Amino acid sequence: MPQVLLKDDSFKPPEDPVYYIVAANGLYRVVNTPLYSATAKVEGLKGLCHQEERLDLKLPLIPQALMECAVGFFEQIYDELQSESVLLLHYHPERRRYRLVAPEQTVTVVVSRWSSWVKGEVDYEVVPTARGWVHVGDIHSHGGQGAFQSWTDTEDARFRDGLHIVVGRVNWKPDFDVAFTVAGRRFKLGLAEVCEGFQEAKPAPARWREKVVCQVEVSRSYGYTSASQGKGYGCDDYASRGYCPELPPGNDGFGRLSD
Ligand SMILES: [Zn+2]
Repeated sequence: MPQVLLKDDSFKPPEDPVYYIVAANGLYRVVNTPLYSATAKVEGLKGLCHQEERLDLKLPLIPQALMECAVGFFEQIYDELQSESVLLLHYHPERRRYRLVAPEQTVTVVVSRWSSWVKGEVDYEVVPTARGWVHVGDIHSHGGQGAFQSWTDTEDARFRDGLHIVVGRVNWKPDFDVAFTVAGRRFKLGLAEVCEGFQEAKPAPARWREKVVCQVEVSRSYGYTSASQGKGYGCDDYASRGYCPELPPGNDGFGRLSD
């Protein structure tokens, strides 16, 4: 078996006719002959045993009541703001208990001359865990759309090892997309592999709703813009529902500065 060397700062190329380098960007086979020297990227090492990717979860199932509460929160936010929302999943290894945490999250409303509408996106920061608790994943909603891993979800998950659950069709018949990500690789799972089950949405704690804030983006155009996504609610509609957000000073909310 040729030797396998790590390509770090102390690396010195040996005289061996064949050897392997493990580098930051992959595995390489180096061949030295009297006629040429070559370094070729390879998939694996000849002569070794094969290895498949696998995931064995040691976490207990998420209680059904917790998932039903999460869906209740997503339904409430979609009802009020036509938006996605997110909850973080924390776990206490000693107590073997889960809890859901609502991070501060911002929903963006775009206001133009004729209408206002929600972009449907949600921005949030991962919050630190309390002592004894660890962050094991997140659950977010896709509002009225089905559950799937969007391009944004996949990109986000590449940098966050853990459980990623998407809940779709929150206002109708919720469906779930479940994945566990490790080192940028995605393991697709069924809901039953991570959760006791789901029957119906249950009311969420009021403190979760307080973590959701609305941010206004004023469209420069007088009509619909390329930013237009999601439902087009009139600003009056928002006001009557009690969620018309504060506008920046000097702005009348119709894409122009007031006098
Ligand atoms: Zn998503």
